[in-house]
Amino acid sequence: MKVLVINAGSSSLKYQLIDMDGEVLLAKGLCERIGIDGHLKHTPLVGGKPVFNEDVPMPTHSEAIAAVIDKLTSEEYGVVSSMKEIDAVGHRVVHGGEKFASSVLITDDVMEAIHECIPFAPLHNPANITGINACKAVMGNDVPMVAVFDTAFHQTMPPKAYMYAVPYNYYKKDGVRRYGFHGTSHRYVSSRCAELMGKPIEELKIISCHMGNGSSICAVDGGKSVDTSMGFTPLVGLPMGTRAGDLDAGVIQYLMHKDGIGVDEMLNILNKKSGVLGVSGVSSDFRDLDMAAADGNDRAQLALDMFAYWVAKVAGSYVAAMNGVDAIVFTAGVGENSKSMRSAISEYFKYLGVEIDEEANSKRGEDICISTPDSKVKVFVIPTNEELVIARDTKAIAG
Ligand code: AMP
Repeated sequence: MKVLVINAGSSSLKYQLIDMDGEVLLAKGLCERIGIDGHLKHTPLVGGKPVFNEDVPMPTHSEAIAAVIDKLTSEEYGVVSSMKEIDAVGHRVVHGGEKFASSVLITDDVMEAIHECIPFAPLHNPANITGINACKAVMGNDVPMVAVFDTAFHQTMPPKAYMYAVPYNYYKKDGVRRYGFHGTSHRYVSSRCAELMGKPIEELKIISCHMGNGSSICAVDGGKSVDTSMGFTPLVGLPMGTRAGDLDAGVIQYLMHKDGIGVDEMLNILNKKSGVLGVSGVSSDFRDLDMAAADGNDRAQLALDMFAYWVAKVAGSYVAAMNGVDAIVFTAGVGENSKSMRSAISEYFKYLGVEIDEEANSKRGEDICISTPDSKVKVFVIPTNEELVIARDTKAIAG
């Protein structure tokens, strides 16, 4: 069974075609500047075919999907002979609200429910819907499509973790609560961690640290998310590349009044100009921060120190939430690649009896245990693979 995985953004669309017999990645690619002009980078990974990397007109997502299908099936760049070989499509959908605790086959009712969640994710869900509709327009209604939600994994959180201490009616009437994001990634790395430890996940307490451009931490107790650092939106929790993370709401009122800033501009500052970019004034990219800090830039060092401190602080609160921890996992761009950030964070875990094997910590690109055999809590680096989870769920539901 071959599954096409689609992750549609407002002006971009990432895809992977995976052969589920053996879970072989056949091709991957990225459409960019949809609605502006259009560019497609298509990378076939089997059959020795060349990479296609050119401008392609994409007025809407439909032309983008059509271009993807064209390349996947073309003689020169293709990996399948026709569209008929694509058995199902798995779509990443950011927000499923309280309606979806797991992945589902996309029906008219499901589309309506995804629509209803737009107010919770006004930037993401409309793009996901556009991606689904474009796929239907190009591939027809007979190819089964599955929605895999970023929020679904966190639906197991208990009310004491997901409720905000605001008047209860805001939850009852308006759905204001912690939802959490990156659920597909936390689900993947925590289950992979249990596999690597050779233990049933039901017996493990795992802290999953997804540290990329956006970052969140999740407490996974017995395979279930019991708390996570992102909330009603992906703005809160840790300081991120450009997002502020946790912030006293009083600051917002203070700055808006003082500087005459409107709410949209304020939120834009908190989403796009804050985080390690805002603190350092250098970059949102941790590689740039490492270089600037090495050159003596104090604010770049401060941003890195704050990030490590926040990861340790939130992870520490999850040790309390779960009354213990067996393993800590680092994943995503920073978690998978930054040895220095992993070391800096692990320094804070000494009270847990964590000892890092610096030689293992220097390796890259593989699932690896980076703690010593004597370490009381195991520490892993596990490259995340959200597309594989989407493809597996799609196979399970549509196969
Ligand atoms: P992601 O959102 O998971 O794709 O992560 C992207 C981020 O990972 C980039 O913005 C960088 O900050 C970070 N990153 C990637 N490679 C490295 C590296 N070698 N060292 C430090 N940070 C890295």
